[in-house]
Amino acid sequence: IDRIVIIGSGQAGFEAAVSLRSHGFAGSITLVGDEPGVPYQRPPLSKAYLHCDPDRESLALRPAQYFDDHRITLACGKPVVRIDRDAQLVELIDATVIEYDHLILATGARNRLLPVPGADLPGVHYLRTAGEAESLTSSMASCSSLVVIGAGFIGLEVAAAARKKGLDVTVVEAMDRPMARALSPVMSDYFSTAHTEHGVHMRLSTGVKTVVAVDGRAAGVTTASGDVIRADAVVVGIGVVPNIELAALAGLPVDNGVVVDEYLRTPDENISAIGDCAAYPIPGTASLVRLESVQNAVDQARCLAAQLTGTSTNYLSVPWFWSEQYESKLQMAGLTVGADTHVVRGSVDSGAFSIFCFLGTRLLGVESVNKPRDHMAARKILACGMPLTPEQAADTDFDLKLAIT
Ligand code: FAD
Repeated sequence: IDRIVIIGSGQAGFEAAVSLRSHGFAGSITLVGDEPGVPYQRPPLSKAYLHCDPDRESLALRPAQYFDDHRITLACGKPVVRIDRDAQLVELIDATVIEYDHLILATGARNRLLPVPGADLPGVHYLRTAGEAESLTSSMASCSSLVVIGAGFIGLEVAAAARKKGLDVTVVEAMDRPMARALSPVMSDYFSTAHTEHGVHMRLSTGVKTVVAVDGRAAGVTTASGDVIRADAVVVGIGVVPNIELAALAGLPVDNGVVVDEYLRTPDENISAIGDCAAYPIPGTASLVRLESVQNAVDQARCLAAQLTGTSTNYLSVPWFWSEQYESKLQMAGLTVGADTHVVRGSVDSGAFSIFCFLGTRLLGVESVNKPRDHMAARKILACGMPLTPEQAADTDFDLKLAIT
C-alpha cells in the first residue's frame, strides 16, 4: 500500500494518520475533512469550553506544523461526495479526485435533528462542532434561561455548564430517567438528584411538541402535555446519526453504521471504517455495536494502523467513556446494557462510588463516580476476563487488584 486516504478529520481520522506514521508507514496519507482547520477534540465543547473563554487553539489535536512535519496532507473544508471503488478514488465537492490504495472511512456522526415545529428557529442550538459551541457560548452570554432538550451526556453537561454561568436551566427528557440508554438506574438517579440540587428543573417523562417563537426567535418549548416552558434559548441534545451515506452510495453494507468485521474492514478489502461511523461485531456474538467515544475512535484507529502496516490484529479493546457534571466525574468501563444485577461499591451519598453491572454472574461493566481507581481496575478486570463475584464487588475490603492477574 502506497496511498492511504482518510475521509473525516475528526478524532478517529486524525489518530489513524498519526498511528500510521508512528507504525512506520512511509507512503502518502491524505486526511480529507469537511470542517475547516486542523483536527480538534470535541469533549471540551460541552464542558470547559462553554464556561471558560473559548480558545480554538486549545482544542487542536496538533498544530498545523505537525501535519507538514509528518507528511500528512490535510485537505480540509470540502466534503467527499463520491467513492469510486472500481477506480479506487474519492471525489471532493469541487471535483478534485484523490486516488487511494486503501481508504479509511472516519466520517463520524452528525446531530439528530429535533422533528417538531419551530426547531429551525434562531436561538435553537445543537452541539457537535466548535462553531456550534461558540455560537452557544455567545448566546448564553446574553441569556438568563435555557431549555435543554434531551438528558443524555451532552445535554446534561450543557446544563451543568449553564448553571455555572448562573442561567436558569430546565432539562426536558422523554424517558423517565437521564442517560437511560447508557447508565444503570442507580447512576441515573444519582445524576438526576445532582442536577436538581444544583438548581436544574428536571422534567422527565416529558416529550417536546413545539419550539415556541417570539419575534421570530426561540423562546421556549411546549411539552406533549401542553405545558409551556419559557427560556431565552434552546439546546437540542437528542443524539446523533452516523454519517453512512457515502458508504451506502458506494454499495457498502450499512446498518446504523458502516458495517465492518473484527478487523474493521468492510467487505471491500481496500476500505475500512472506524470511530463513530463504524458498526463492528461485539467479540463472541453476532451483534454489531456502534460506539460514540474518544476511546473507541482512538483504539480503532490504532488497531487499523497496526494492521495496515503488517500486524494482523482484531479489535478487542474494552470500551470506556467519561463525562463531567459539576463535581462528579463519571467513568464507565465495558458495556452495561442488558445487565440484570447492579452492585453498589462504596456509598452513593458520599459522591464517590462505583456500580458493578452483572448479567448473571458475568461482569459486563462498571460505572464509577469520582473513583478513578475502581475504573482503572475495572478496565483491567474486563480486559483479562478474570471472574469477579457480585459479593466481592460489593465488599470494599476486597482488593480489586486481586481479581487481576
Ligand atoms: P467525528 O469527531 O464526528 O469526526 C468525523 C469528521 O468527519 C467530522 O469532522 C465530519 O464533519 C467529517 N465528515 C463527515 N462526512 C464527511 C465527508 N463526506 N467528507 C469529509 N469529511 C466528512 N467522547 C468521550 O469519550 N468522552 C466525552 O466526554 C465526550 N464528550 C463529547 C462532547 C461533545 C460536545 C461531542 C460532540 C462529543 C463528545 N464525545 C465524547 C464523543 C467523541 O467526541 C466522538 O466519539 C469522537 O469525536 C468520534 O470521532 P470520529 O472521528 O469518529 O467522528
